[in-house]
Amino acid sequence: MASALGKLVLLATERSAVRSLFTSTRPGRALATRFVAGEELADAIDVARRLNADGFSVSLDHLGEHVTDRGQAVTARDDYLACLDRIAAEGLDANISVKLTQLGLGFDTDLAASSLRELATRAAAAGTTVTIDMEESEHTSATIELYEAAQRVHGNLGVAIQAYLLRSAADLERIIALGGHIRLCKGAYLEPADVAFQGRVEVASSFDRLLEVLMAAPETKPAIATHDDDRLAFARRLAADREAPYEFQLLYGVRGPLQRELVAARYPVRIYLPYGVAWYPYLTRRMAERPANLGFFLRAVIGRS
Ligand SMILES: Cc1cc2nc3c(=O)[nH]c(=O)nc-3n(C[C@H](O)[C@H](O)[C@H](O)COP(=O)(O)OP(=O)(O)OC[C@H]3O[C@@H](n4cnc5c(N)ncnc54)[C@H](O)[C@@H]3O)c2cc1C
Repeated sequence: MASALGKLVLLATERSAVRSLFTSTRPGRALATRFVAGEELADAIDVARRLNADGFSVSLDHLGEHVTDRGQAVTARDDYLACLDRIAAEGLDANISVKLTQLGLGFDTDLAASSLRELATRAAAAGTTVTIDMEESEHTSATIELYEAAQRVHGNLGVAIQAYLLRSAADLERIIALGGHIRLCKGAYLEPADVAFQGRVEVASSFDRLLEVLMAAPETKPAIATHDDDRLAFARRLAADREAPYEFQLLYGVRGPLQRELVAARYPVRIYLPYGVAWYPYLTRRMAERPANLGFFLRAVIGRS
C-alpha cells in the first residue's frame, strides 16, 4: 500500500524514459539485485538452497505479468513447469507464486485456467503447492474464480488477498471453506477510493480484521505477508492460540534481520524469491513501498556522473 510519495513513484516509473533509466543502467540493475535472485532459474535455485539451509521455506516467482500473446503465456507456463521440476530434483523446500496475467488472464481466460491446472498437477507431483499472486483490482474476480475452480480439483493451491480492497472481507469469507493457503498482504498497486482503502491506518485495521478471521479458520493455512512490526506483533498474539499450521512470508531483500529473528524464534517463515529478466514492474512496487530505496539508485547515478 503506497504512501502519497509512493503513488508518485508508481506513476513516474510507468514512463518509458524512467523505465529505461533503470533497466539499461548499472545502478538500476544493481538496485534490482537487492530484491531479485538473478535473471536465470539457476540463480534462484542457488539462493533458494541457501535460504533453506538457513531455515527458510521459499516461494519462487518467475517474474512476468500482463503478457499480451499466447506464445508468451505458454512460455511462462513452461518456465514454471521447469521450475517445479528443479524444485523436485533438488529436494527444495519451495513452492511457486504465479501471476495469472502472466499465464494469459486478460486476453485468454481459458488458457490461463488450463495452465494453472497444469502447474497444480506438476506441483502435486513435486510434493508442493502453487500460490496465485493478486494483481490489479480489474483481475480480482477472475483470479478468485480461477483459484476456486483449480483448488476444488487439485487441493494444493493458495491465493493472495489484499487488505486494501474493500471487497476482501467478502472474498475471504467465500474462499475460506476451500481450505487452501491464503496469503494476506496489504496490496501493492495503485487503486482508486471506490475500490480500496487509501489511508495507512484504514489498511492496517483491515489487515488485522482479516487476519483475525483467517487465523480463526483451522481449515486454511494462513500466510501472514507483511514486514510491518505492529501487524506482526498482532499476528504473533493470534499465532499463540492457533494449533493448525500457518506461516509468515516476507520478501527477499526486505528486512533481513527481521527475517532471521523470526526464524530464530522458531516461527515458520517463507521468503518470496523472484527471478527472471522481467524485473522492472516488481522493482517499481518495491520502490513505491519504500521510496528511500531510490536513494541507493540516485547516489549510484550521481556518483557516476
Ligand atoms: C510474501 C509477500 C507476498 C506478497 N504478495 C503480494 C500480492 O500477491 N499482491 C500484492 O498486491 N501485494 C503483495 N505483496 C506486497 C504487499 O501488498 C505490500 O505492498 C508490501 O508487503 C509492503 O507492505 P507491508 O505490509 O510490509 O507494510 P509497510 O507498512 O509498507 O512496511 C513496513 C516496514 O517494512 C519495510 N518495508 C516494506 N516494504 C519495503 C521495501 N519494498 N523495501 C524496503 N523496506 C520495506 C519498511 O521498514 C516499512 O517501514 C506481498 C508481500 C509479501 C511480503
